[in-house]
Amino acid sequence: MNDPLIDPFARAIQYLRVSVTDRCDFRCVYCMSENMTFLPKKELLTLEELDRMCSTFIRLGVRKLRITGGEPLVRRDIMTFFRSMTRHLDSGALSELTVTTNGSQLEKYASDLYAAGVRRINVSLDTLDEAKFAKITRWGRLPQVLRGIDAAQAAGLRVKINTVALQGFNEDELFTLTDWCASRDLDLTFIEVMPMGDLGNEDRIGQYWSLKELRKRLEERSSLTDLPEKTGGPARYVRVQGTGQKIGFITPLSHNFCESCNRVRITCTGEIYTCLGQEGHSDLRGPLRASEADAELEDAIRAAIALKPKGHDFDYSRQQVDGQVSRHMSHTGG
Ligand code: SAM
Ligand code: SF4
Repeated sequence: MNDPLIDPFARAIQYLRVSVTDRCDFRCVYCMSENMTFLPKKELLTLEELDRMCSTFIRLGVRKLRITGGEPLVRRDIMTFFRSMTRHLDSGALSELTVTTNGSQLEKYASDLYAAGVRRINVSLDTLDEAKFAKITRWGRLPQVLRGIDAAQAAGLRVKINTVALQGFNEDELFTLTDWCASRDLDLTFIEVMPMGDLGNEDRIGQYWSLKELRKRLEERSSLTDLPEKTGGPARYVRVQGTGQKIGFITPLSHNFCESCNRVRITCTGEIYTCLGQEGHSDLRGPLRASEADAELEDAIRAAIALKPKGHDFDYSRQQVDGQVSRHMSHTGG
């Protein structure tokens, strides 16, 4: 095997998140504006290019691959790509293939995902109220997503719900959501909202709700035990005493995990971001398209990893303009 990818701070890069499209069938207010201009098709990596990109990373030691977007399951023929990754699971090179989805297409694709070797998926769901769901996603419909979650569980997929915490929006559903997840045997993680750039203010639904506050509310009802598991990412987990339910908290821009950060992100146009909290990125599409052999791509990947910052704590203030991060989450793939 080729030398593994080790960054300047001795972290082995083993987790790759790939955005396969910037498009989506929803328009969540904290993620997109109502009128998005999407990229022309030629800017996107083709499915074959995505395969080459991911396979190169896997050859260099990536063990876990998460497919995201935009909405990954609206990309045409995306199942071809999932099926092409199965060979890496079969060979043992890849230990996990996962996807983060809004759930709208799961009824159609859950069994195909399972057949391709996917065992766990994340589904984003911020409310169990139909009217509120339509409001927050603008174009989404709750029953379709709930049917998707049913289909995923029926297909044998382990489902984790990701809920963005929004004061004045889903605060009143804290226990409804946690109890619903517990009763359905769904894992649950809350995400702190990041103020994203230029979404327009017309749809400001809900505000920043700190997970510290959210946790306090949970603790008013049951005691929580911190779990030691470290994912190399921004999630922290607790166990609810009594029910045994596990709940996660993701604070995307906290930096208490930087030292163990083993992940990098690829956008749908083939840019690599080695840190979610920093703007620095490099182009991998050029090297990928420059030659049919993978040597140039591999060199470009190594060069990018050599620039992976230690963390984003020192640069945090530089990323913000009036409290906003200038990139959309759908661009770097959440
Ligand atoms: N469309 C898929 C979905 O919604 O799960 C995958 C892409 S989406 C960008 C990935 C995750 O990012 C979702 O869980 C979404 O809630 C989260 N997200 C989007 N914008 C966010 C923001 N401004 N702050 C925090 N999380 C955000
Ligand atoms: Fe689409 Fe996911 Fe962004 Fe919502 S959060 S608009 S579902 S990409």
